[in-house]
Amino acid sequence: MKYHKIHCIFDDDNSLDFNCSAEDSLITGAEKQGLSFVFGCRQGVCGTCKVHCVEGDVSHGEQASLDVLPEEERAKGYILSCVASPRSDLVIKFPYDAVDVGVDGEAESGVATVVACEQLSTTVFRYRLQHMDKEARKPEPIEFIPGQYMELNIPESDYWRAFSMASVADEKGELEFIIRLQEEGKFSNYLRDGVKVGQQIKLNGPYGQFTLEPSDRVRAFVAGSTGLAPLVSMLRGMAKTDDNEEAHLFFGMGDQETFFYEAELRQLEKEMPNLKLHLFLMRPNEEWSGEKGSAVDGFRKQFEGTGILPDVYICGPDGMIRATEQVCAELGIPAEQQFKEIFVPSGRTE
Ligand SMILES: Cc1cc2nc3c(=O)[nH]c(=O)nc-3n(C[C@H](O)[C@H](O)[C@H](O)COP(=O)(O)OP(=O)(O)OC[C@H]3O[C@@H](n4cnc5c(N)ncnc54)[C@H](O)[C@@H]3O)c2cc1C
Repeated sequence: MKYHKIHCIFDDDNSLDFNCSAEDSLITGAEKQGLSFVFGCRQGVCGTCKVHCVEGDVSHGEQASLDVLPEEERAKGYILSCVASPRSDLVIKFPYDAVDVGVDGEAESGVATVVACEQLSTTVFRYRLQHMDKEARKPEPIEFIPGQYMELNIPESDYWRAFSMASVADEKGELEFIIRLQEEGKFSNYLRDGVKVGQQIKLNGPYGQFTLEPSDRVRAFVAGSTGLAPLVSMLRGMAKTDDNEEAHLFFGMGDQETFFYEAELRQLEKEMPNLKLHLFLMRPNEEWSGEKGSAVDGFRKQFEGTGILPDVYICGPDGMIRATEQVCAELGIPAEQQFKEIFVPSGRTE
């Protein structure tokens, strides 16, 4: 699938970047990354989501109403972000402040020290950082909500990448990330070859609105690969706050070589009596104590025919999110009970 980079400039001169698939509207693409911009009807009719596209091309499809987007405004680059999909990288000016959509919130730039980097499977690394004070002299706590992410800078470069915390905020300021290696990825190459314990790195954040909603419903967490990270953070947050609602985690990989985090998940299960783990391998060997098949199928089997409609937290690659949405539709789980974050390429340079 083709993704385009969307550079957003707000009225207060704050800015942010996100990647949006050519198949999604800008509003939907932003939502998949935990950003909620202003919109109304979602059908290109009300005009609430009108923004100024100062660079790049979009397609409005057939839904946009000319009543709210007259030809002279189109000619100047105005678009309806609820129905416009990117056809190239875009630069967009929003007629409101970043704080109005919660995107500059508490986010700050800071520094951290690399504490450890270890390979968890053939494709996944664990990267641990210690957040430091501004002068990088002493450790300092950092606040974030389970499910949020940070932008991490590759040392001595202008490249930034988004990664979700797997840990919860604590008084020490330690941060844990679980990172999937991408072929020819800049951050991936840094983890493979360039990382050094004790090295300083710059970070921005926290960002994101993919966080736990208060609820007394059963919760289902469906993870694809390192999409596990924010979901584990949420579960750890539940454990820390004695939130004892029934929770199910569905997580699977292809085979034992690519599976990761089993010991940590088993430990979490011991600490959370109301957490049930559902671990899957598509191609298990005889040592495997979990289940065979896919996590998404496991999610369906757990709830079909029970009448239980859980809140569902989904994180991972695009295909897995779509498959889980399909199961949610089959089970009759309303859209308001589905919370998603899609892991797409997050590259940004400055
Ligand atoms: C809000 C958010 C949170 C994220 N949290 C995590 C996390 O906790 N753990 C994690 O592993 N990833 C996470 N990601 C995805 C991660 O930011 C990207 O995969 C990142 O671009 C990888 O950086 P890289 O420098 O290694 O590869 P890049 O240099 O960015 O990319 C190298 C190549 O791989 C492709 N590519 C990169 N990432 C992906 C992807 N996710 N899917 C498909 N193709 C890709 C690129 O298109 C490019 O061709 C998150 C993404 C977002 C938007």
